[in-house]
Amino acid sequence: MATTPVDPRVVSAMQASLSNTFGNPASVTHGFGTDAREQVELARAQVAELINAEPKEIIWTSGATEADNLAIKGVAHFYQHKGKHIITSQTEHKAVLDTCAQLAKQGFEITYLTPNADGLIAIEAIAAAIRDDTLLISLMHVNNEIGVIQDIAAVGKLAREKNILFHVDAAQSAGKVPLNVEAMNIDLLSLASHKVYGPKGIGALYVRRRPRVRLEAMIHGGGHEQGFRSGTLPTHQIVGMGQAFAIARDEMVQDQGHAQQLREHFMTRIQDLPKVTMNGSAQHRVLNNLNLCFHCVDGEALIMALPNLAVSTGSACNSATMDVSYVLRGIGLSTAEANSSLRISFGRFTTLDEIEQAASDIIDAVTRLRAMSPLWEDN
Ligand SMILES: *Cc1c(COP(=O)(O)O)cnc(C)c1O
Repeated sequence: MATTPVDPRVVSAMQASLSNTFGNPASVTHGFGTDAREQVELARAQVAELINAEPKEIIWTSGATEADNLAIKGVAHFYQHKGKHIITSQTEHKAVLDTCAQLAKQGFEITYLTPNADGLIAIEAIAAAIRDDTLLISLMHVNNEIGVIQDIAAVGKLAREKNILFHVDAAQSAGKVPLNVEAMNIDLLSLASHKVYGPKGIGALYVRRRPRVRLEAMIHGGGHEQGFRSGTLPTHQIVGMGQAFAIARDEMVQDQGHAQQLREHFMTRIQDLPKVTMNGSAQHRVLNNLNLCFHCVDGEALIMALPNLAVSTGSACNSATMDVSYVLRGIGLSTAEANSSLRISFGRFTTLDEIEQAASDIIDAVTRLRAMSPLWEDN
């Protein structure tokens, strides 16, 4: 999903915080500041709990983009005396890819692993890419376009054995699949609030304390957040993220059950539509995402024909530029196939009626567009 609506329970918690709290969480010498501080620390514990971390290991950021930047640049700059090599994949979010590209300009060497046709990176490929000067492996848990789940525990085990730091972009997995930074041997983990029914503009980076991971800060100032990220904390935003993560933890099983029911209904409805294929692994994927290729249909034309649906080709971050999805190209689709693909999301607030409507709209549009397509005649 490119984003999610804010859960009404999160809105209430944020409104209460915004109207009742005006203290600075860093000012603990008076009651107002202490109240804000307590709210921030409760939220920190709520976020930590979802990933099995200590509250002290959570650093607030403006979102997952900043968390990815802080993790990757922070490690690269702090440990550059030890090496200059970073391993990542071609199908990461731009927040990781562009950060790595920036480091490459500064002399770091980046290996971009190619996924298999199922969208996953083989553990053997990671092992083969490791060098003596490898500092960091950065891999996403769940891909934002195709929804595939990487076996993060296996990568974490390998990284720990080789004494290499391991960063995970978990913006799409938090609240969707279990996350455990201890069991998975994760050193740094990026989180976003607005992918989990929380507000935009707030996120967090988990930074392991035992054994301690060091980072060079990107934003300098009053030394907030243990010196990792200075600046007055946005109390109400943080309260919203904390509430969203507490709900995600309590309702993950229910949310996933709901998504599965909607997805199965959708798949049953479209099963008679010919030449539809699923992009990415059918087994290792989150239940709230489908990425389907409707062969011989132009994706942009399809989206135009579906004005009532919040579907997209590629991801929101790239569709602004109308570029063909590098993720779909990366898993081996042709440009035409990538352009014929749609991402469909099944969220907490999506209803069966909406899915029913979406399925019949898609069937109608695909059938109509194919009837007009010279590509389809050749079939
Ligand atoms: C959305 C997303 C981001 C960016 O998060 P923001 O909070 O919007 O900065 C990074 N990585 C992945 C995988 C995402 O889905």
